[in-house]
Amino acid sequence: MAEDLYQSHDYFYMDELLTEEHKLIRNAAREWVKREVSPIIEDACQKAEFPKNILPGLAEIGAFGPYIPTEYGGAGLDQISYGLIMQELERGDSGIRSTASVQSSLVMFPIWKYGNEDQKKKYLPKLADGSLIGCFGLTEPDYGSNPGGMKTNIKDKGNHFILNGSKMWISNSPFADIAIVWAKDESNRIKGLIVEREMDGFTTPETHGKWSLRASATGELVFDNVKVPKENILPNKDGLGAPLGCLDSARYGIAWGAIGAAMDCYDTALRYAKERIQFGKPIASFQLQQRKLAKMITEITKAQFLTWRLGVLKSENRATSAQISMCKRNNVEIALKIAREARQILGAMGITGEYSIMRHMMNLESVITYEGTHDIHLLITGMDITGENAFK
Ligand SMILES: Cc1cc2nc3c(=O)[nH]c(=O)nc-3n(C[C@H](O)[C@H](O)[C@H](O)COP(=O)(O)OP(=O)(O)OC[C@H]3O[C@@H](n4cnc5c(N)ncnc54)[C@H](O)[C@@H]3O)c2cc1C
Repeated sequence: MAEDLYQSHDYFYMDELLTEEHKLIRNAAREWVKREVSPIIEDACQKAEFPKNILPGLAEIGAFGPYIPTEYGGAGLDQISYGLIMQELERGDSGIRSTASVQSSLVMFPIWKYGNEDQKKKYLPKLADGSLIGCFGLTEPDYGSNPGGMKTNIKDKGNHFILNGSKMWISNSPFADIAIVWAKDESNRIKGLIVEREMDGFTTPETHGKWSLRASATGELVFDNVKVPKENILPNKDGLGAPLGCLDSARYGIAWGAIGAAMDCYDTALRYAKERIQFGKPIASFQLQQRKLAKMITEITKAQFLTWRLGVLKSENRATSAQISMCKRNNVEIALKIAREARQILGAMGITGEYSIMRHMMNLESVITYEGTHDIHLLITGMDITGENAFK
């Protein structure tokens, strides 16, 4: 990949809305991505390998549980700080951001919010320093957008449960040490369990052949009569609202992350357009290319403000699930459109690994599908504004 010359774009001086701490955290993540991710990410994607050696660095910049209180090993930061870290990570690659999102919002968050004190003390500090890596099992082969139909189940055997079923499309599953697994009990109530890699009957086959999120490992979780001690159940929340609460947190991070990918595509295309000469002039001087670039920075700026406002509301515990859906949907959509337009500005060079754009574009095809598809987020907005449920 060509040298990483990324410069961020702040057309409406949004930095003035950030605190000094926000900027320090954002800049530290930005520098780290430039130093540790940009030089290796293209190769990792081409080989379809998650670069595990970056895990300690992710922990060091506070990407694992930024908003988890310091007493449990987190960084105790606010929601905007969390968002800014996700933005910078996805500027590097959506797969790297995915690993941090899963660890923070889908593994640490449920243990913090729904776990007991023993579980928090046992797992959170190790997840924060990256000595334990987690994954989150909600999606099943026959239940994606409709996770409430899940078949994975637990049966009460006195001092333990017996877990059976399977999950698929699980980020980090091939190397995760623990999995937060959602399963139905005998009364059909969804419960969260902490399943450990060493448990007999638990396997995590990797899913190969992806054209998207190639630097993120994806796999299955297969449970064949797995004996899970009762102390591994998350006691403080059950029902579908429990996993959906985790998804709110992760979707919020994705909303920020998508801006990072969009900014990287825009920055690359802008620089290229100024340098590439055709018909004796830089292609940036042609109106058609200016139109693309002008629309990109407009959409990025709108997304920055929407997302900053969402971050304020989230820090005040006022953000609704529907607002998070709207923001995730908007930002991923604009990021994907920007990636497609930016790729065209680079002509043939845009399809190569010399530049990050095609990789972002391919990654965003997963980002627009996971954590609730684009359609599902639209239906959430539709339901919120009309009071009518169009899902069923
Ligand atoms: C790379 C990757 C990583 C992932 N990581 C995780 C993970 O870590 N943990 C996890 O649990 N899951 C994970 N997922 C799964 C992801 O969340 C699901 O793929 C997603 O929820 C959609 O489910 P599905 O693929 O089964 O699609 P389906 O639900 O089968 O949907 C197919 C199509 O039908 C549409 N559709 C569905 N229902 C409706 C409706 N009511 N009205 C209108 N249209 C509808 C959808 O919008 C979509 O376009 C991951 C997926 C990918 C691709």
